Amino acid sequence: MRFLALLVMLFATRAAAADLALVGATLFPNPEAEPVRDAVVWVKDGRIAAIGARDQVTLPEGVEVIDYTGKFITAGFWNSHVHIFTPDLLHARDTPVEQLDASLEAIFTRWGFTTVFDVASDVDNTLALRDRIERGEVSGPRILTVGQPFWVKTPIYVVDYLHAHGIEIPPVTTPEEATARVASLAGRGVNGIKLFTGSVQGRGAVANMDVELVRAATAEAHRRKLPVFSHPQNTEGLEAAVEGGVDVLAHTAPQSPAWTPEFVARLNEARVALIPTLTLFRVEGERGELPPEILQRWIEHALSQVRAFHEGGGDLLFGTDVGYIDQFDTAEEFELLARAGLDFRAMLTSLTTAPAGRFGDAVHTGRIEPGSAADLVVLDDDPREDVTALARVRATVRGGKFIYRAR
Ligand SMILES: [Zn+2]
Repeated sequence: MRFLALLVMLFATRAAAADLALVGATLFPNPEAEPVRDAVVWVKDGRIAAIGARDQVTLPEGVEVIDYTGKFITAGFWNSHVHIFTPDLLHARDTPVEQLDASLEAIFTRWGFTTVFDVASDVDNTLALRDRIERGEVSGPRILTVGQPFWVKTPIYVVDYLHAHGIEIPPVTTPEEATARVASLAGRGVNGIKLFTGSVQGRGAVANMDVELVRAATAEAHRRKLPVFSHPQNTEGLEAAVEGGVDVLAHTAPQSPAWTPEFVARLNEARVALIPTLTLFRVEGERGELPPEILQRWIEHALSQVRAFHEGGGDLLFGTDVGYIDQFDTAEEFELLARAGLDFRAMLTSLTTAPAGRFGDAVHTGRIEPGSAADLVVLDDDPREDVTALARVRATVRGGKFIYRAR
């Protein structure tokens, strides 16, 4: 027993993140604060120990100092709409470490994501991947997950994929089933619930969820302090989501009419957040071979919904639907958000404090402040001058450890 205890201690020491200081960069501690030039970010035991201008922070001896003069540092990014669903992540229990490291870097960490919310996947596999990351075996972001999604009928665009990979996600058709499924998933450690309040079927048909089913799932989820995401699809699914009490719309809904100030006020009243996923509509439109002018109109319509929501003071969460789409680069999403009227600070809010405010905790605050998790992104260029700089990441630090460094 004593030997084991010693081993555990040795392992714990080796696994602990070294103290380090990132110096010389321009620091954005949070979206509202004035940036700090020539800053020091001192990281101790995976948390922020101190921040300030170089002449305000005295570093103790033995701290590893990394020079980031000319770079820009923000809090770690959250991607609030991802899927642990790419083929190379589907067998997380048995896939070699190097392969998982490479995939997680390509999809998440090289884009600055220190936390991702998986909003539908194979729950067994996602929990296995999360386990390997949390054990320190694999290098990746913190994964929050809804596990299996709820739908009354499987969306047509995932039927073949699920079948090909032997994944079964049975439909949920009654309020009683919904309550039971929420309880069962909660027992497995999920962090939220995802409802396809609308599910695309053949020839433009949509299988919408009955509002009573939405209410039952939402009530049980909220009783367990789990947020509820909705994939709305059209007006009816959007109504079922809002009436049913969901917390987050996982997409804009270009199949629903323009969002009026009254509708946006109603969303705000119900504290419903929105994940724009604007790149998705371009990708889907091209996949469906929409004529360019129709595609353009469709994207403009999605942009107008985000613009209306943003102007109405709505709570926007950054998310890309990566894992469903295989475009990992986030630059296009930032460009589209700029076209919808978001400036750098609004984007940083959607990447950090807004999701942390909903899904975070006392440590994961989306802010760089003493006591918070040392989740950081180092950018090559100034995101105030060009928002696509948010996609040019030099390094990603999670809990005081580098999970990505540009080579
Ligand atoms: Zn999705």
